[in-house]
Amino acid sequence: MQTTNSPTGPVLFRFDNSYARDLDGFYRPGQPENASKPQLIRLNHALAEELLADVDQLAGPDGVSVLAGNLLPAGAEPLAQAYAGHQFGNFSPRLGDGRALLLGEVIDRHGKRRDIAFKGSGRTPFSRSGDGKCALGPALREYLVGEAMAALGIPTTRALAVVATGDMVRRERPLPGAVLTRVAASHLRVGTFEFFAAHHGPERVKQLADFAINRHDPQLAGHDQPYLALLEAVAERQAELIARWLGVGFIHGVMNTDNMTISGETIDYGPCAFMEAYSPRTVFSSIDIAGRYAYGQQANIAQWNLTRLAEALLPLIDADSERAVGLATAVLEAFPERHAQHWLKVMRGKLGLDQNKDVTVDRKLATDFLELLHQRKIDFTNSFRALYDAANGQAAPLHQLFGDDAQFTHWQNAWQARQLQRSAGLIETMKHANPCYIARNHQVENALEAAVEDQDLAPFERLLSVLQQPFDARPEDAAYAEPAPLAVTANYQTFCGT
Ligand code: AMP
Ligand code: MG
Repeated sequence: MQTTNSPTGPVLFRFDNSYARDLDGFYRPGQPENASKPQLIRLNHALAEELLADVDQLAGPDGVSVLAGNLLPAGAEPLAQAYAGHQFGNFSPRLGDGRALLLGEVIDRHGKRRDIAFKGSGRTPFSRSGDGKCALGPALREYLVGEAMAALGIPTTRALAVVATGDMVRRERPLPGAVLTRVAASHLRVGTFEFFAAHHGPERVKQLADFAINRHDPQLAGHDQPYLALLEAVAERQAELIARWLGVGFIHGVMNTDNMTISGETIDYGPCAFMEAYSPRTVFSSIDIAGRYAYGQQANIAQWNLTRLAEALLPLIDADSERAVGLATAVLEAFPERHAQHWLKVMRGKLGLDQNKDVTVDRKLATDFLELLHQRKIDFTNSFRALYDAANGQAAPLHQLFGDDAQFTHWQNAWQARQLQRSAGLIETMKHANPCYIARNHQVENALEAAVEDQDLAPFERLLSVLQQPFDARPEDAAYAEPAPLAVTANYQTFCGT
């Protein structure tokens, strides 16, 4: 299955397409559909520069044609990747890029290989009954939340651009369509391994695993157990990633195995949302009736997903299946503790505690504080930020949230006793662990509604600029640190970005 390389288009990126070159049979060639009236909605200049692209050219007529899918840039080899996935626990053997196309890969300014891919560029061989399209609202949501995560320092795929196509897409009602250009360390997913394990057997899985190792864990190439080590490396990245999510109140919303990367980047901002009042049971996705992907379930689900990856890798781990299962199980069973360690690291950062003290005391400090928030339905982000303010000499925000609550005062005394060795370095760490601004649901909805219903991008741009600097409190942005009215949050629902 060869894709057609396009030598003639504008030179926007220096493509070097290892997936197309090395993984013949792991994809189907595809072509983006034409957009009738492309309009550049947003270009990520900083990211374009990171990719060593010419920003002016990208923002010019040829660039916009490319970002709309109307013109292929030189060196692009558009392809739809094959993958399977467990969706809400059920296996879908054939998913694949139904509305996405990998254009190719570039080596970025830091020497890192990055995928450049479209989302919403039309039908592919994997579209099944779908239209391959993306509506403008979900494209802008992915842009906003992805950039918010990046600014928080959390591993994530990024949005390079959003272009409105000028065509309507048919959803519950007609909506303006868009193409999102997404940049990722790779688009390899747990579901990619599941696809080749289910349909093709160990040789193909090995080819894929070798590709993944080469791309994400090259130091494992000479390892005596490279595939077990790959599983462990993915587990390590996910253990940390989920801890980082929990640290900012992020709920992915649809942690299907096709939405879990091998790279450890957050991917697919569909029904995601940030928690406001703390509750581990928080879930916003309209289709997650049972709360499978609730805030506090995410580490368990990551382990469940890693088990699916382990199953695909088993034949590579050992020819003796019992031995293979034993080895993989040990990695999987270590996951909760691995995650707990990352979680503690995150929480110590948030509480301004140094990393090398009594684990039991610090875990209890963290869980006791969360329990106070839970009982009192206090905003997660603002309460931790108030702890930072207090550590930094401003007690008022904390007092505003808790008043003279005796239980809280008891906790605060324990916290301060533990915090005696407070240093400027710890307070700075604390600041960067406790953002002032997260992508609050009502603000995201307002921004998307203005963009889609009124063609007014000002609220989107304003919110984006706030989220790009999440750690410095600014009086003029105070409204963005306000939780939504409780009634709004209680009824808030997010939908898969189809
Ligand atoms: P997602 O919910 O975006 O993670 O997508 C899950 C699966 O459904 C993937 O295989 C997508 O390619 C596919 N899919 C989602 N939306 C569409 C669409 N509008 N057209 C075709 N395939 C889609
Ligand atoms: Mg997906």
